[in-house]
Amino acid sequence: MRCIICENDANATGSHIVPASLIQNCVGKHYKEESYSIDAKDVEINAYFGRDNLKNTSPEIKENHYKEDNILCQKCEDNLAKIESEFSTNFLQKFREERFKQNFTITTNGHGVEVLTPRNFDNKKVYFYLYSIIYRFCMNSGRKEGEFFMEEDDLEYIRLYLQGYLYGDKLKSEDYLKDFNLVITFDKANTNGSFVASANQFTNPYIFYFCEPILLLFKEEIPTEARNIFGDYINNITVDQDIKIVINSEFYNAYRNIMTTYLAETFITNAINNLSNLNGKSYDENLLEFNTEMENFDKDDSEKATRIYNLLYQKYNINNV
Ligand SMILES: [Zn+2]
Repeated sequence: MRCIICENDANATGSHIVPASLIQNCVGKHYKEESYSIDAKDVEINAYFGRDNLKNTSPEIKENHYKEDNILCQKCEDNLAKIESEFSTNFLQKFREERFKQNFTITTNGHGVEVLTPRNFDNKKVYFYLYSIIYRFCMNSGRKEGEFFMEEDDLEYIRLYLQGYLYGDKLKSEDYLKDFNLVITFDKANTNGSFVASANQFTNPYIFYFCEPILLLFKEEIPTEARNIFGDYINNITVDQDIKIVINSEFYNAYRNIMTTYLAETFITNAINNLSNLNGKSYDENLLEFNTEMENFDKDDSEKATRIYNLLYQKYNINNV
């Protein structure tokens, strides 16, 4: 195997796909453990909706969702680890703390959205950190599941940038990213995080959830509508200005909900398809039965979709025996 960044021998073991310091807040949360490896084509995303019916996966197996052997060479691994550690110390461990507020510039735009810029930390390292995670996440998913989440050309531009930043001309390497516009969101009030996931359905922007940050990556021309919303905090590495990180919880939750909705919709579609395969009835017939059952459940029961699926699955599976 070749290193996904520099193409030398990928001799590093235990490489983090998403840095441990970013996802530690997600580990152990009820909807998180399996959401690392959300496979939207699979009804097993019901893991997201609750744990009652989870297959028991061992901690070792979970580890594998974000740690990999033979994906990087040791040199790239060491370089990434160094920047990850710096980001954790200078940003993650400080941006929510009142006593470190002098380390950041915080401005509020006309719509009340708070934007933060690290003062004592090279902004270019923030870019490198985030793009390196996007790249590793996509390449790892592509190798393992065949889902790259980004177009091949876009991934190659990011690779050339990462390689150039580490081993070539840092400034020149930025040119590979000139068509990428990045919106970076963290939640300043909560450490709950979101998911470790993306979906092929997210195109312009690509959306990445790395537990703590939610990243929107626009390509080339930003649609006018998006420019109206994000105009104040779009980051382009080739534009000479401070990096802007949105930290409002409301903003964060709005983008968190995109994935939640996506998962819920995908879950229901897959569940109905599975039931159709099981009982030979049409999709519409099964959907009708599913929705009728939904009405019998408390509307606030966040796990009702899973419960109903299990109920119907058992009903028709018994018939099958
Ligand atoms: Zn390498």
